[in-house]
Amino acid sequence: MGDFSKTPEWADAVDAISVAQRVLLVAHVTPDADALGSALAIGLSLTSAGKSVQVSVGEPDFVVPQSLEFLPGVELVVAPENIAQPDLVISCDTSSHERLGTLAQVLHDAPNSIAIDHHASFTGFGKIHLVDPQAAATAEMALKLIDLLDIELTQAIAACLYAGLVTDTGSFKFQGATGDTLRIGARLFDTGIDHSSIARLLFDDEPFDALTMMGTALQNAVLIPEAVNGLGLVYTTIATGQRGDLPELAMERVIDVLRRTSEAEVAAVFKQADDGIWKGSLRSKAVIDVGAVSTALGGGGHRFAAGYTGSDDIVALIAELTTQLASAPKI
Ligand code: MN
Repeated sequence: MGDFSKTPEWADAVDAISVAQRVLLVAHVTPDADALGSALAIGLSLTSAGKSVQVSVGEPDFVVPQSLEFLPGVELVVAPENIAQPDLVISCDTSSHERLGTLAQVLHDAPNSIAIDHHASFTGFGKIHLVDPQAAATAEMALKLIDLLDIELTQAIAACLYAGLVTDTGSFKFQGATGDTLRIGARLFDTGIDHSSIARLLFDDEPFDALTMMGTALQNAVLIPEAVNGLGLVYTTIATGQRGDLPELAMERVIDVLRRTSEAEVAAVFKQADDGIWKGSLRSKAVIDVGAVSTALGGGGHRFAAGYTGSDDIVALIAELTTQLASAPKI
């Protein structure tokens, strides 16, 4: 993490939490393990401190995706329709107002709000900003907050944080991971978490249908070696018909395989939502800042992992992406 732990925002956040009674934690829409894990970790911590806590995601009738049901504290999750009026809202891993979904207004109306996030593209909503693009995961920052609140790091809290940490660092493989990340990981291990089972459930456990969908997506992949000024682009598309009944999260894993392509610096997966609109996910290896590319295309994200929402015209989207990548900033 960056050296921002001494900034006044942290003291403001601790003060805001200490006077709050009803706290709502919000993870971004289509939550991943960092967003939901951080929200649940802070939620469990504040529950132990005697607060009344709810955790939610701004999608109508939200329920926790099956792949994240193993996270401790999921009993704190309620659909956005069922939240009690909070006096403090804490958004986790959420870079923009839009990513709050239907809970954007609740955060806006709450007497106080904290945004805890590590996206460089954070757009500045809410009252207190704990934002550190140097943090490898929001989970790192959530632990900092829990420490500042002097709350004991239990095994349940550690399991939630570990899920976020290994997800956002690709099991400590990505560029953002630091010695601090490993030291945090060691602290989480020392609470006695079943790290092996957490890693298996996160990365190595999928329904058969998800594997065959991935097979089709990989078969349809296209390699353009001359794209990105000769650094190479590999992409594939997953239309709604290919996805079947699989949740959106199942498609997220396709890019983890596609990005292994030796001949391509950038990997892209276009996923079609039920309304026909395509969403693009981008990954780069070491040279190209796909966060900037994604921001230019109306989305956001990190240097090596980003995404955006496009249109219903996949041919135009691919052309637009290759054009953007031709002038993409280097890291
Ligand atoms: Mn994250």
